[in-house]
Amino acid sequence: MIKAEYIWVDGTKPTAQIRSKTKILAKGEEPPGWGFDGSSTNQAEGSASDCVLVPVRTYHDPIRGADNILVLCEVFNVDGTPHESNTRRELAPVAALHEDQDVWFGMEQEYTLVNLQANPVGTIASRSDNKFRSLPQGPYYCSAGYGLAIGRDLVETHLDFCLAAGIRVSGINAEVMPGQWEYQVGPSSALKVSDDLWISRYLLHRVSEWHHMVVTFEGKPAEGDWNGAGCHTNFSTREMRDSYVACEEAAIALGERHQLHIENYGAGIEHRLTGAHETCSYKEYRYGVFGRGTSMRIPWQVEREGEG
Ligand code: MG
Repeated sequence: MIKAEYIWVDGTKPTAQIRSKTKILAKGEEPPGWGFDGSSTNQAEGSASDCVLVPVRTYHDPIRGADNILVLCEVFNVDGTPHESNTRRELAPVAALHEDQDVWFGMEQEYTLVNLQANPVGTIASRSDNKFRSLPQGPYYCSAGYGLAIGRDLVETHLDFCLAAGIRVSGINAEVMPGQWEYQVGPSSALKVSDDLWISRYLLHRVSEWHHMVVTFEGKPAEGDWNGAGCHTNFSTREMRDSYVACEEAAIALGERHQLHIENYGAGIEHRLTGAHETCSYKEYRYGVFGRGTSMRIPWQVEREGEG
């Protein structure tokens, strides 16, 4: 027998949560569809609470090891229609439509390790105002050392698990705020990178259980002079990889629907994209071949080499 961990994205708003439960399967058995109580995951009313899990991609389970698997699922209603929280169903046909462009996505997932009181780990909360104290920003980014690279054990374990699961991770680094880290997923196709990103987040939460730290993807986990955390997207099409002109055209095209993109990025983006802390304000759209204060940055090598 093997253990199959069925994993799905729930209906919590404004930010969806990852849920999972275990099904015991015979070795070699194709994971079948399954069900769950949608009234406990913000996906159904109590009166008709059944939701359906449809397996879409399996991974090796690096935590349980042996032949055990992780099973990423899409959520459907009992009548066979996709559940409204199932945005993967909307993505699949769009990705198929542009297959000839061999589109690559690379996601830079930033996150912050906090304690149960929501203070960043490794910092001292003052009793009176519950605000954390530490050295100001500066020494943490890509740092080494106790008190600087905070939570590295967790980060390294997560990286090993991702690689063992078959997730395409391309790097990690300590970030600007204490207890803040980043890992990069991709470059991969739209569906592969999305699936990998959700499973990597799931593994991160699982690892956090042993380290007694909470992983938050919140855009602005600490008020004040601290960087926020986001998920920058690296993107190219076949055309962009061949020509700099196509890169500029893409940058201009993205600007035309800036407002729509901001509205759909995720909760709290306005607290992160303030125009300070290496960001461009969420109110404006800028692109360019320079620094990090842009919405859309074309790397300098791309301009020099004339292709992306
Ligand atoms: Mg970063």
